[in-house]
Amino acid sequence: MSDMIYKSTRGHDSSVTSSAAILRGIAPDGGLYVPSQIPKLGKEISELMHYTYQELAEVVMREFLTDFTKEELRTCINKAYDSKFDSPLIAPLKLTNDVAILELFHGPTLAFKDMALSVLPHLLKTSAKKLGSEKEIIILTATSGDTGKAAMEGFADVPGTKIIVFFPENGVSPVQKAQMVTQTGSNTHVIGIVGNFDDAQTGVKKMFTDSDLAQKLESSNMMFSSANSINIGRLVPQVVYYFRAYADAVRSKYINNGDELDFVVPTGNFGNILAGYYAKQMGLPVGTLVCASNENKVLFDFISSGKYDANRKFKLTMSPSMDILISSNLERLLYAIAGNDGEVTASLMEGLKTNGTYEVTPEMKERLKDFHGGYASEEDTAKAIKSVFDESGYVMDTHTAVAFSVWQKYKQETKTKNKAVIVSTASPYKFATDVLSSIDTKYAKEDPFELLKEMALISKTSVPKSLDGIENKPVLHKTVCDKAEMQFEVEKYLKLK
Ligand SMILES: *Cc1c(COP(=O)(O)O)cnc(C)c1O
Repeated sequence: MSDMIYKSTRGHDSSVTSSAAILRGIAPDGGLYVPSQIPKLGKEISELMHYTYQELAEVVMREFLTDFTKEELRTCINKAYDSKFDSPLIAPLKLTNDVAILELFHGPTLAFKDMALSVLPHLLKTSAKKLGSEKEIIILTATSGDTGKAAMEGFADVPGTKIIVFFPENGVSPVQKAQMVTQTGSNTHVIGIVGNFDDAQTGVKKMFTDSDLAQKLESSNMMFSSANSINIGRLVPQVVYYFRAYADAVRSKYINNGDELDFVVPTGNFGNILAGYYAKQMGLPVGTLVCASNENKVLFDFISSGKYDANRKFKLTMSPSMDILISSNLERLLYAIAGNDGEVTASLMEGLKTNGTYEVTPEMKERLKDFHGGYASEEDTAKAIKSVFDESGYVMDTHTAVAFSVWQKYKQETKTKNKAVIVSTASPYKFATDVLSSIDTKYAKEDPFELLKEMALISKTSVPKSLDGIENKPVLHKTVCDKAEMQFEVEKYLKLK
């Protein structure tokens, strides 16, 4: 078997292997790495049904990461999907009254980012080793809440790496902040900044392109790397759970083998749903991929009209991980619907950069038919949480509720006969205040940590171990800095001269 080749979506970069694509993160021409063709998975569902999550991950991921040896890949997978997850199934499929829910929040930080960020550090380390890089890998990230925490859990105590996370001191939920400042691991460093997420993001981007800083890292035998969702090493592990969900849906007789199954995905950066698109191209009988947005409905507008327009007011919603106006992984879809044309993709991205907008050709729009776009208002989201709880006792988080609401409208509009899977991206415990207030307004004023116990009572589940008593855990990270001091803090922590 010859190695899978990765190309840049903007067409100017020569081809690289999977390990090089993972180590680089982003292509030198600014594009995203994509496999030159999507491999087929030549396996029957009847066989996959009997695999463990780890075994399934190995057969799916080896199709993409062809320059990893069997042992390398297996080691990465086994280090990632272990008892850090509070379900041995890793991604259990729950059947409620009339729909299946794929729970992707059983990892250490209770959000779907764990599905990829628990394995990425190992893929990155292995890639560096394969390519003969002896440099220490420094992960530098700005976070609005979920990504930074999941990245730290993934990288904590991984030899040869350090991770530095900046978060807006006053811009994350109380639970998220507690998760951040109590982070353990001798190689983790968390800094609050006086400013918002954009300030943190801008500061981090500046450091990535600062040539002075690059020089200093070089002479200390270090290199920066990024854990953000455009790394192909985050996308590939996400393809796995689409196969898992389908096989489990067959095994539990929710569908018959061969039936089309729709997936409804709460979407922000388009990474999760794109993995579903890849799974479909690998041969999985996926029906429609329903892209669910909150009030920041830039993707809904794009899928309905073919025109992407980021020039609009940014809204803060109760599903903050989907509060996004520039959806970075969409670039990979554009490349695919342009017939793998890097020039077309590059010019669309140029339009986005200069005018905040672009429009695809009618031919490209026709190829979007695998997708359906929908969105939920804040009111729709709250209603979905309450109605599902009232009818089935199942408590869903705010992001999942966006998907649920969109699915209901989609079913009504299209009268589809397909069964669906709602992809659940966060534990309701992580957003306890908004979730419980949607069920009953009496919860709105309660202490956020007390609410965790209420949540356990009404949902008949237990408080996840990682949150139990978190308000009393020692605060290990107390540094707060001004946005102008971010680089100073990085140099100090890394002892750069
Ligand atoms: C990141 C995130 C999303 C959005 O996923 P994308 O891959 O960026 O589309 C949805 N829900 C939660 C809880 C998340 O953390």
